[in-house]
Amino acid sequence: RSYAIRQYASAPPTAGFAGRKGSNGKYTVTLIPGDGIGPEISQSIKDIYAAAEVPIQWEEVSVTPILKGGKTVIPDNAIQSVKRNTVALKGPLATPIGKGHVSLNLTLRRTFNLFANVRPCVSIKGFKTPYDDVNTVLIRENTEGEYSGIEHEIVDGVVQSIKLITWDASERVARYAFHYAEASGRKRVTAVHKANIMKMSDGMFLSACREVSKEFPNVKYDEDLLDRVCLQIVTNPKPFSDRVMVMPNLYGDILSDMCAGLIGGLGLTPSGNIGRDASIFEAVHGSAPDIAGKGLANPTALLLSSLMMLRHMHLYEHADKIEQAALNTIAEGKTITGDLGGKASTSEYTAAIIEKL
Ligand code: NAD
Repeated sequence: RSYAIRQYASAPPTAGFAGRKGSNGKYTVTLIPGDGIGPEISQSIKDIYAAAEVPIQWEEVSVTPILKGGKTVIPDNAIQSVKRNTVALKGPLATPIGKGHVSLNLTLRRTFNLFANVRPCVSIKGFKTPYDDVNTVLIRENTEGEYSGIEHEIVDGVVQSIKLITWDASERVARYAFHYAEASGRKRVTAVHKANIMKMSDGMFLSACREVSKEFPNVKYDEDLLDRVCLQIVTNPKPFSDRVMVMPNLYGDILSDMCAGLIGGLGLTPSGNIGRDASIFEAVHGSAPDIAGKGLANPTALLLSSLMMLRHMHLYEHADKIEQAALNTIAEGKTITGDLGGKASTSEYTAAIIEKL
């Protein structure tokens, strides 16, 4: 079984990687270690990449907000770094609770217009879950929908929250989904929706998908209701392994966590936020403050996210080599972290992967 090789697929060619190779033959990539377990799992990636001789050098920046003109903003050197390098690997960021703070994840998405969030979920051999054949790819519109942040109280006790759907954003994410299907050998794109209720907004999302589907005669296109898809995936995930699902923002946020649950949880789930000018890759999980600083964190999700990044950069051989080493380490089951049922520390697990390179 050629297990999960290249399942964390490359970005399609349209997602333009425009990174520059330095005179030392290496690409510069922005690294945002993040909060909580972020620095520990980032260190693991750095160690594995150094051992695998991946031709990239890290430009490490912090996105901890600073006060500028009475507002909290992301430091400009971090923004400039991502703009310059066009690719970044990001550790989790703790979202501050309370007024006056910016949601850094949302700010990054908006700053770089990261329009597509790609979330593959592939069963990992050696980690026991109810199904061992999950292989889904979900592409979520990342900039609008219910997450547009347009909310207001009309009168006391009545709040209106606007779901914003635009033709341009729908068309853009649909085209990305079709390109992704072509690039990764998936035969079908399924648009997931609730147009039976949201007739105008989801209706337009579907119209955009249908229009775009005409440009891709070799990829089949169909549509399915969100609730039906949820039921089908948890009952029998197999039929979803030949397709790419594309959907508006909120649906993708929720459905992708459901898929993550099917393969063993957030510690194993990578993602990529794709934009035209830059792309940021990150694990789906958060900063895990409960285990931060204890050497217990599982770096797999960030590592798999970084492999999506390498394929985005067309560094396929390095990605394949590291992926095989990591998946074999998990399959062997001897040196795995506590969340996977093992006893290894982050650094012991990292060393076991390096040994298999
Ligand atoms: P979380 O994902 O950080 O943790 C949930 C549980 O999973 C915890 O028990 C944690 O120990 C465990 N876990 C998560 N990642 C793990 C790993 N790599 N290895 C082992 N165990 C792991 O979710 P949370 O506790 O709800 O959120 C904590 C903070 O992270 C919050 O501030 C939240 O806003 C933020 N967050 C950030 C992102 C992001 O940056 N993209 C995503 C989600 C949450």
